[in-house]
Amino acid sequence: MADHMIPATLIEGDGIGPEITASVVEILAKVGAPFAWDHQSGGLGAIEKFGAPLPQPTLDSIRKNGLALKGPLTTPVGAGFKSVNVTMRQEFGLYANLRPTRTVVPGGRFDKVDLVVVRENIEGLYAAMEHYLPVGDDPKGLAYGAGFNSRSECARIVRFAFDYAVANGRKKVTLVHKANILKIFSGIFLEEGRKIAKEYEGRVACDERIVDACAMQLVTDPWQYDVIVTTNLFGDILSDLTAGLVGGLGMAPGANIGPDAAIFEAVHGSAPDIAGKGVANPLAMLMAASMMLAHVGRQDLSTRVDNAIDRVIRVDGVRTRDLGGETGTAELTRALLAAL
Ligand code: NAD
Repeated sequence: MADHMIPATLIEGDGIGPEITASVVEILAKVGAPFAWDHQSGGLGAIEKFGAPLPQPTLDSIRKNGLALKGPLTTPVGAGFKSVNVTMRQEFGLYANLRPTRTVVPGGRFDKVDLVVVRENIEGLYAAMEHYLPVGDDPKGLAYGAGFNSRSECARIVRFAFDYAVANGRKKVTLVHKANILKIFSGIFLEEGRKIAKEYEGRVACDERIVDACAMQLVTDPWQYDVIVTTNLFGDILSDLTAGLVGGLGMAPGANIGPDAAIFEAVHGSAPDIAGKGVANPLAMLMAASMMLAHVGRQDLSTRVDNAIDRVIRVDGVRTRDLGGETGTAELTRALLAAL
């Protein structure tokens, strides 16, 4: 391995995973991305081979490299397997979920949207502390759910958002909460957020929004937002909403970041309905790979990849089926290689 190469785990995943991963790896090679791929299995293939969707060798590889690009993994329904995403978040303490949203296909209702949602990934209501309580004769008459937000984690995620803003030339961070009703549970996030914001005064502006108002404004005037930071459940919902603004799942990349590891992936799943047909859109995974380049300090290469995507979509007018076009994965890949 050449000195400048960075070892990174590569999981091609299930369904459309192998098709879009092949496309992305080819494009990364073309720009000279400094990744030495450590191929590992995950998802259905891994269940057949190792009996687990995220087997030990894959986890060991991610732990060693601290960096991974992951294709979509099929989660078997009702087979008793724990969600792969939850497993990874817990294993590696991936507390920050980063979801950039940028209009690539021009001319729609949401042209020129460019914002980022930072979601807290390990606390909040997704701690899934839930159970039934009896009501009268019904032993399951009431469903009880609880969650927690720690002061330290609220501070950590808000600091992550501000640091991201500074590093990426973003001007404003919006703290999204529901502290008007959940005065303690959501209030602690707002309190810590305000404290952290003071440290960045003069460099990054800060404002606040109640989550329901934020949801409405994201569809009436998304341009007012720059970086949004929020707790787990709100971030889950808002980041899918913002993906919808700019062309849906095929255009939505994401990163899960912790102190010791960062995992980059498309937001979409394995799309079994179109697997093997050569029509999958590889752009979400390619955008995730572009984020990965920026993460390792190769903003130059990340910008080249982003520019190639812009060119192919905006100038050449290439569209896969999910974007209303006819272009297949291989043809789109060729167009991207040509644009580079
Ligand atoms: P999905 O995202 O796979 O598909 C939803 C719809 O979007 C489908 O019609 C699909 O054809 C389309 N689509 C998704 N990605 C596309 C792309 N790149 N190009 C073109 N069209 C695309 O969601 P699902 O069907 O609910 O889930 C399928 C499987 O994926 C499930 O087993 C689920 O658990 C898993 N999943 C994995 C991840 C992950 O690994 N990060 C995320 C979500 C779902």
